[in-house]
Amino acid sequence: MPDLKLLWEIQALDGRKRALEKKLKGGKMAEELKSIKADIEEGRALFNKIKEEYNGVKKSQKLKEMDVSSANEQLASLGKKLYDGSITNVKEMNSNSKKLESLKNMVKKAEDEILALMEKQDELRAKLEGMSAGLNNKAEKYRRKHSGLLAGQQKIRQSIAQIPLARQKLLDKLDVETWQRYMDMKKRFNDPLARVEKATCMGCRMGITFNELRLLKIGEDIVYCSNCGRMLYWEKQG
Ligand SMILES: [Zn+2]
Repeated sequence: MPDLKLLWEIQALDGRKRALEKKLKGGKMAEELKSIKADIEEGRALFNKIKEEYNGVKKSQKLKEMDVSSANEQLASLGKKLYDGSITNVKEMNSNSKKLESLKNMVKKAEDEILALMEKQDELRAKLEGMSAGLNNKAEKYRRKHSGLLAGQQKIRQSIAQIPLARQKLLDKLDVETWQRYMDMKKRFNDPLARVEKATCMGCRMGITFNELRLLKIGEDIVYCSNCGRMLYWEKQG
């Protein structure tokens, strides 16, 4: 009489292998990692954009400072000229006074602008620092999850690696004819062997006939489900 218990265990191992291989592909965890990664990349792009803006503001400040410094030099030389008595012409005096006023105004305006640029820089710097901390947290979260995923995959690979030997041991004990019949049916079913529970074929969930159950209990030959055609496996109680 064919030992279907062995076959049942082999089929269970094959099913376990399939499930583990599916799990190895990552599934939910990999999806989560992908979404964190996309989030980080988006954050980095925004960070770089703001950093560029920050550098632009810094550059504008520098240019304004250079303007102020050259205006101050002009003011100094103009002031000297106005008060050292070198100008005797009234018209020239007036024109230089106007020039002096306009330079002073320009410096005042530029200094206000520099202040505004400095405030803008502070604001952008605070924003960048906040973003950088957030990005570091996310990167840390990613690393943690990723190494967790890798460790999990390592375990799964180890479990998968143990299956072939266990399977071969079972197969060595199984008679060739039963195996051949099983393998022929494998073309039609993923799991050709179906357990019978409460007089029901668990492959198709249909009740089996009284005669099928009787033949199963006698256990002299393989019995097939008259509904789906699977091989039936009935475990003796006790
Ligand atoms: Zn069936």
